[in-house]
Amino acid sequence: MKPQITVIVSQGQSSHPAKRAMESEIAERLSGQHQLDVLVVPNLYDLRPDGATLNALRALPGHLIVLSWLYPRAAHWILDRNGVSGAMETSLLRLPTDEEETEEAEGEPEGDRVERVADTRPSPSRSIYCADLRACESAEPVVDEVARIVGELGVPSVSATHTPGGNGAREWRQIDDEADRRWYPVIDFSRCTNCMECIDFCLFGVYGVDGAETILVEQPDNCRKGCPACSRVCPENAILFPQHKTPAIAGAPAAAGGFKIDLSRLFGGPSPGEDALAVAARERDEQLLAAGRQPVGTAVAGARPPKRPSDRAPDELDALVDALDEFD
Ligand code: SF4
Ligand code: SF4
Repeated sequence: MKPQITVIVSQGQSSHPAKRAMESEIAERLSGQHQLDVLVVPNLYDLRPDGATLNALRALPGHLIVLSWLYPRAAHWILDRNGVSGAMETSLLRLPTDEEETEEAEGEPEGDRVERVADTRPSPSRSIYCADLRACESAEPVVDEVARIVGELGVPSVSATHTPGGNGAREWRQIDDEADRRWYPVIDFSRCTNCMECIDFCLFGVYGVDGAETILVEQPDNCRKGCPACSRVCPENAILFPQHKTPAIAGAPAAAGGFKIDLSRLFGGPSPGEDALAVAARERDEQLLAAGRQPVGTAVAGARPPKRPSDRAPDELDALVDALDEFD
C-alpha cells in the first residue's frame, strides 16, 4: 500500500558539509519508519517548474512533511506556486526569533479580517507541514518532530529505531535535478489581497494575472538578482524572497496588513527611520540603471501609500483619487 505521508528533505543552497551530513542522517533515520517515504531533493526555491523533482513532488499522494533550510511560510508557498498544494499546518520547530515575531503578529481583530486569495480556493484535502532545519543543531529533534507530526496526523506511532532494509522499511530516495541558484518573489496567498500594488510597482514584467484576474509571478526569471523592492511595497507583507538576509523579507512570521507592526521597521532599508517606500523606489532605480534604463524615482505607480483599508467606506477624497486613477 502506498504510504500516505512523504517526508521531503530540501537541501541547503550551499553544499556545506555539516548541512549535508545532517540532511543525510535525517533521511537515513526516517527511512526506517515504516509509514514514511523519504525523498531528498535540491533546494526547493531553485527548482525548475518542469524539472524532474517538481514533477515527482506533484505526483505525490497524501500528506507532506517538508524539512528545509527556509522559513516554513516560504517553503509552503514555493511548493504551492508549483502545483504542490495543501493545508498549511504548524511545525513546532521554530527559530527562537520566530516565537517572538509570532506572538507579536497574532491577533488580527475579527472585524478587520479582509479576504485573502487563499480564502477563494477550495479547501485542500491534505496537510503540509513545513519545518525549518535552522532551528536544530542535530538530526535528533527533527526526527522527534516528524514522529510528533505523524501522531498528529493519526497514523500509528512510528518506531524511533532505524531499521534499514528491515521488515517494511524503505530506503530513502534522492532526486538529482538541475538547480542553479535562482532569485524571484514568492507570494504568500494566505496574506495576499490581490490589490495589484506589486504589478504596478515592478517595471521588469515579473508579475501577471491568471484567467481569474488573480496576481501571479508570471516571469520569475525577469526579477533582478538581489532586488527585494516590491516586498517593501506590498501592504500585506505577502511577498517573500526566501534567500534574502532580512528575516521579514525571507518569510519570518509577521503581521498581515501592517495592522499591528510598523512595516517600515520590518522592511525598511539600511538606514533606521528611512521610509520603506523610498527605499523600494531607490532599489528599483538601481536595477533600472543596471539594466541600462532611466530611473523613475517615486513618480511611477506603486511607490505610493497603500490603498485604503478595505473595511473603511470610501470618502470624497478616495472617490477623487479613484477618478484620477481611472483618468490615468
Ligand atoms: S502587493 Fe501584495 S497583497 Fe497586493 S497583489 Fe501584490 S502580493 Fe498581493
Ligand atoms: S524585486 Fe524588483 S525586479 Fe523583482 S519583482 Fe520585485 S520590483 Fe520586480
